Amino acid sequence: MSARVTRKRARMDAEQAEEDGASASTSSASGHGDSQARPGNFEQDPELWFQDGSIILVAGEIAFKVYKGPLVNQSPVFSDMLSLPQPSLDVHQDCPIVQLLDSPEDMRHFLRTLMPSKHPRFASAPRMSFHAVYACARLGHKYQIDHLVAESLEWFSMFYPSDVDKFSKYRDRHQLPSCAIAMVTLARLTGADQLLPVALAECCELGADVVNGFEREDGTRDDLAPEDLGRCITATRNLVEARLHAMEHTVHPAVYEGCEEGCIHDINMFRDRVLCGTIPGLCTTQFWRSYASLLTDEFPDVCKRCAEEFSEEELVQQRSIFRRLSELVGVAVDGWGKKPRSTRHGAQEG
Ligand SMILES: [Zn+2]
Repeated sequence: MSARVTRKRARMDAEQAEEDGASASTSSASGHGDSQARPGNFEQDPELWFQDGSIILVAGEIAFKVYKGPLVNQSPVFSDMLSLPQPSLDVHQDCPIVQLLDSPEDMRHFLRTLMPSKHPRFASAPRMSFHAVYACARLGHKYQIDHLVAESLEWFSMFYPSDVDKFSKYRDRHQLPSCAIAMVTLARLTGADQLLPVALAECCELGADVVNGFEREDGTRDDLAPEDLGRCITATRNLVEARLHAMEHTVHPAVYEGCEEGCIHDINMFRDRVLCGTIPGLCTTQFWRSYASLLTDEFPDVCKRCAEEFSEEELVQQRSIFRRLSELVGVAVDGWGKKPRSTRHGAQEG
């Protein structure tokens, strides 16, 4: 059984300060009175409980005993909160106890990146889970840790890229479709508009399920704003239309008529089967979905050169759609499709 810490009434709540429109410096202790203060026990987090820690953060029912230094040094919000004298704070073994409104799941991911550790830090941990990076981005924004937000957005840009070369490289590394909803809400929160085109295109993939939102680890839900839901409806039509045009170009007879193997007959039959739906997948918003392997599966006699022409033309078309993506999904993103964009984004950008 883990050791426990007790709390009487202390409450320090940056989130409420934020909701009230107050700046971090106005965060105060015991702002909600005793009515919300539940006397009770909190469980120690098994991982983030440093015996020589200098502050105890309580999120939900979980207590994290961590070092005040990294929090104060990196977060202006924690700095303002913790540098003011807080006589009303409870204390456990000389450690002040601070109650936060964040979920323990979010807080654990957040603190892991800020506290000393033998394990790789955020930047060198490409295998972090979506939930972990998402929590770091949101809490980084809330507690104004700009580098954490920037690193998180950099990680997300692998999956929701803004330049076409990166897109070609990572188009097969998609997250679950519902993660796109989280990405749109994060882009709206942080002003990271460059994430929006790919994220909104992937939201379209969800169809009617787009209204079910994204479920966070703690069970709470993020939903698209009504304006973004509306964008998905228009974008779905635009993306399907763009894919139809792309297919027209990819199977155009002019590309194949010079082939002496007579591949044009197979290509024409392939086109007919795609258009009538015998080979499915044309009327989808997933413009990055390739037909190349379906062509060679269905028509193994198509020569190598024609198969390569097909793949190349398909890629040209996909890249062309990507360059128009911000327009197709109805968002204005500075410089989209014009030139390769930097992938480093600060929290204050946009
Ligand atoms: Zn051929």
